[in-house]
Amino acid sequence: MKITGFEAMTLAVPEDEPLANMPEEAGRTRPVVALRLRTDAGIEGIAVTFYGGKMTGSLRVAVEELAALTISEDPLRIEAVIAKLVNGTGDSCGPGGIFTLALSAIDIALWDIKGKALEQPLWKLLGGHRDRVPTYASGALRRGLTDDQAQLAAQTLVDKGFTEMKTQMALPGNPAPADEERRVRVIRDVIGPDIKLMCDINQRWRPEQAIDLGHRVEDVGLFWLEDVTAHDDYQGLARVTAALKTPIAGGEYVWGIKPFRQMLEARSVDIVMVDILRAGGVTPWMKIAGMAEAFNLPIVSHVMPEILVHLVAACPNGLTVEYMPWMIPLYKETPVIEDGHLVLPSGPGLGLEFDEKALAGFRA
Ligand SMILES: [Mg+2]
Repeated sequence: MKITGFEAMTLAVPEDEPLANMPEEAGRTRPVVALRLRTDAGIEGIAVTFYGGKMTGSLRVAVEELAALTISEDPLRIEAVIAKLVNGTGDSCGPGGIFTLALSAIDIALWDIKGKALEQPLWKLLGGHRDRVPTYASGALRRGLTDDQAQLAAQTLVDKGFTEMKTQMALPGNPAPADEERRVRVIRDVIGPDIKLMCDINQRWRPEQAIDLGHRVEDVGLFWLEDVTAHDDYQGLARVTAALKTPIAGGEYVWGIKPFRQMLEARSVDIVMVDILRAGGVTPWMKIAGMAEAFNLPIVSHVMPEILVHLVAACPNGLTVEYMPWMIPLYKETPVIEDGHLVLPSGPGLGLEFDEKALAGFRA
C-alpha cells in the first residue's frame, strides 16, 4: 500500500459547551485543521490538529508540507514515515510547536489507515487492555462561573449520569484563599462524596501557593489537582507532590517524549497526563504511557475523547478519559457513555467518520 494524496482544511468549530450548556462566550469558534490522507488501496486516514490559534493557517500549510513528504510511502511503516518527516524538517524546526502539531495529524491518520487496513479498531491494535473505560466531564465547571452557576452545572452533570467531573481553581481576579476553597466545597456539596472531582489550576499558582491551597482543601477529597504550577518546573511540582496527600496530575503542556523522562525521574507528578498533539501523535503517546508504567504511575488523556479513548483503553495503566467534547461535532458518530464509562467502538481504525455536512458548515 502507498500513500497517494491528501487534503487538509481549516475549520472554525463552535465553542459550545454541550455537557451543562455553560459556554464561555456565545458564538466563539475554535480554529482546527482536519486532514485526510489517501492511499492506493482506497483507504483514507483522518485526523485533526489544533492549538495553532492565530497561526492556524500556518499549521494547515505545515500539515500539507509534511503530508506531501509522505506521498508514495508505505502507511503501515509508521516509524519509517515519521523518521522521514523528522529528518526532513523537524531536526531544524522542532521539537515542539507547529512542527509537532502538524506531525501529530500525520501520525494519527497513519494509525487510522493501519486499523482500517488490518480491519481492527485502534484500541485493539495498541494493546486492547479493556473494552470500556471511565470518563469524566470536562469544560463545564470552569473558573469563570459564579458559585450558583457552578452548582447548577455540577447538578446537570450528575443528572446526565457522569460519575467523574473536573472543575478549576485559580479563580479570576485576585481571589483570597477562602474564595478558592469555597469553590470546590460548593461543588462537593451538590455532587456528594462519591463522585470523583478533579480540579485544574492550569499552571496559575506558585508552588508554595499550591501547597497552601492544597492543604486547605485536603478534606474535599479531590481525585487530583492538575497543573498546579508551571509545567516545566519539575522540581517545584515535585515539592508540591511530596507535600500533599491529594494526587498531582500534569504533563498536558509537555512536548514530545524526552521531557517526560525528566518529569518522571523528578517525581513531579502522581498522574501523567499526555496531550496527543503536543506529544506528536499516537506513537509517542503510547511510548510515554509505557514510561509511566515503568514508574508505577497511571496515565490519563487530554481532550479529544473520541480518539484518546482508544489509547487509554489500550494501556494497563490507563486511568480515565477526559470527556472534553470540543471535536465531537466533526463526526457522524462518537463513542457512547454508559454508567460513566466510554464504550470502545468496534469499527476499524479510529472508528470515526467526518460528518461532511458539518464540515462544510465549519469551513473557514
Ligand atoms: Mg488541564
